[in-house]
Amino acid sequence: MSISRFDAIENALMRESIDVKLPSSKISDFFASNVFTSETMRAYLAEDTFFGVMEVIKAGKKINLELADKVAVAMQEWAISKGATSYTHWFQPLTGATAQKHDTFFVPSFEQTKGIEKFKGSALIQQEPDGSSFPSGGLRVTFEARGYTAWDPSSPAFIMTVGSAKTLCIPTIFVSYNGEALDFKVPLLKTQRLINDAAVAVCQYFDKAVTNVVPTLGWEQEYFLVDEALYFARPDLVATGRTVLGAAPPKGQQLDDHYFGSIPERVHNFMLDFETEALKLGITISTRHNEVAPGQYECAPVFSDVNTAVDKNQLLMEVMEKVAGRHSLKVLFHEKPYAGVNGSGKHNNWSLGTNTGVNLLAPGKTPESNLQFLTFFVNTIKALDNHADLLRSAIASAGNDHRLGANEAPPAIISAFIGSTLTNVLNSLIGKEEGKADTPDLMDIVASIPNLERDNTDRNRTSPFAFTGNKFEFRAVGSSATCARPMVVLNAIVAQQLKDFKVAVDALIEGGKAQEEAILEVLKGYIKDAQAILFEGDNYSQEWADEAEKRGLSNVKTTAHALKFMVSDSARELFISNGIYRTEELDAHYEVLLEKYTMDIDIESKILEELVVTQIIPFAINYQNNLLDNIQGLSNLQLQTSLQERLLRNINTHLNELGDAVERMQTARAKAHEGADAEAHAIAYCDEVRPIFDDIRTHADALEQLVDDQSWPLPKYRELLFIR
Ligand code: ADP
Ligand code: MG
Repeated sequence: MSISRFDAIENALMRESIDVKLPSSKISDFFASNVFTSETMRAYLAEDTFFGVMEVIKAGKKINLELADKVAVAMQEWAISKGATSYTHWFQPLTGATAQKHDTFFVPSFEQTKGIEKFKGSALIQQEPDGSSFPSGGLRVTFEARGYTAWDPSSPAFIMTVGSAKTLCIPTIFVSYNGEALDFKVPLLKTQRLINDAAVAVCQYFDKAVTNVVPTLGWEQEYFLVDEALYFARPDLVATGRTVLGAAPPKGQQLDDHYFGSIPERVHNFMLDFETEALKLGITISTRHNEVAPGQYECAPVFSDVNTAVDKNQLLMEVMEKVAGRHSLKVLFHEKPYAGVNGSGKHNNWSLGTNTGVNLLAPGKTPESNLQFLTFFVNTIKALDNHADLLRSAIASAGNDHRLGANEAPPAIISAFIGSTLTNVLNSLIGKEEGKADTPDLMDIVASIPNLERDNTDRNRTSPFAFTGNKFEFRAVGSSATCARPMVVLNAIVAQQLKDFKVAVDALIEGGKAQEEAILEVLKGYIKDAQAILFEGDNYSQEWADEAEKRGLSNVKTTAHALKFMVSDSARELFISNGIYRTEELDAHYEVLLEKYTMDIDIESKILEELVVTQIIPFAINYQNNLLDNIQGLSNLQLQTSLQERLLRNINTHLNELGDAVERMQTARAKAHEGADAEAHAIAYCDEVRPIFDDIRTHADALEQLVDDQSWPLPKYRELLFIR
């Protein structure tokens, strides 16, 4: 569907805001009412069955069929009581989106005259969606194209409502016939185990009661809203999620008046609406506000374990898109919907929590708990120093290149900001403090770590990886991304680092050192090693880019080149030795991500070409014809025509440049396909095709500012950004 610019504007201006009625004024009345929570499960299951399931979840083991049958019966009974008529395995293929395949509970009798509702344990545990159209990077040979989804009991099932249809959704992993991961959840679950084991082992130095450590994630989701009619009048937004053309509006975000400003009523109602749906799904949205750019907003939930937090984010994005329809709005999750206007990210706040209720990245009140804090803090920084490039690759996508490669948001250089207090602590530990010649008493320094106020550390908004008082905030993640990719890497690199730490400390203890002394000695070495990754200044500045280069830090601005880091020798070693990926799995995931990138750029290139050739050029030519008629008429009367002629020439120059650039792009695209493999394709698209977008845009946007507004076909930036 495509709609004309002026119809779209008229539609958008006439919208009324839709009132939202809360199910109850008390949130507790409906919170998680659409989730098969452990409490619900307990109510529906016999005591021993319930504890059996809980045990399996806690130990991360496989569930047996007998137990699964009982859970399935309970789940079905609950789902039907909620009005659900069908169920689906809900999974996250490598496309980054979610997928589902619905089956009805209803099973007809043999004669098909009546039937019953039935849901068996086997259907709960495993399903076989026809997976052949999901990307697999060659993992599924065509004669065995089957993919399997398998229940992830650690993420609760829920009911998704679309209109009046209700479906029981069961979070699952997605694997190939041979058990290779076809999603990011499988590796994620593996790293969750891995970091648990590594962190529990390290915790034993400090507290023997720690038997379980869970990585935690609290994401912050940024997004843009645009009126549905305007959205449909922009084929580029529909096809790619971003505007590939469009001149900057005279008033953009220069005045900074949108940030934390009052939320427009229609938007407010949308927020209330999706938050209510989210609450029913057990997702607590705790903050909401306007973001920097006009039309940009943010929401953040209460954090939870990484696996369920990832699922909740994927689910919330789905819910937001659905609910937006009720308000005639479209949600844009793209990292850069509008050139020249702030992009969107998804900050990933990450920490480690113990079964004893301790946040391992929160400074403690005693010297011992501070040493524990310092251990996890320094090891995380060391892990980042070891594998900064790998973490960079985990946030690479065509959309995020607009942020990381450009002059905003975090840069493509990975570094950590820790604030002045902790910088001083680390410096004193390695004797780097000025004027202090004698060796300091290390335990005194550790004991002096103050309880860090959030404000103390949160000042630097330019850092991609900032310590914010009791967690690290990874800010370079793109707004449309699944958090699973960066979380797999973060969990894995910290887990490996904690393992190495344990080995080093144990060796010193065996050599006769006291435990405390041994820990401090190893940490000191790490602090010295990791200096290059620490940066407290302005990450957007050219000075930092220069300085980072001197320090040997990578600054890879495009996905096609950054993805390579995920298959480097050190990355392979990390993933394969820890059982997170098998070689062929890692190669396949790499290929899928390359192909996704190539496809994204290819689609952008084609829509750009189409808009230029079928809309912009014809409209500019029409306007030229008007000018020609006008000049003709004026000349007949022997009147001056210099203005018209200047305009005409100006338009003609841009038209010619535009035509040339489009031709160059076509040639580059054809040539890119000659590349030998996925990597060569991606690099050709990145280095040869993509740069021509900018040339095309320069001339197209110039035409937008020369041609009669009344005949311009595409909604302009001022309309997209300010009508709401
Ligand atoms: P910002 O100042 O970066 O906008 P917000 O208050 O919007 O910060 O978001 C903070 C985020 O950090 C929330 O999503 C919250 O759930 C998350 N968070 C808080 N504590 C933890 C923790 N221990 N582990 C993971 N995430 C956490
Ligand atoms: Mg943040």
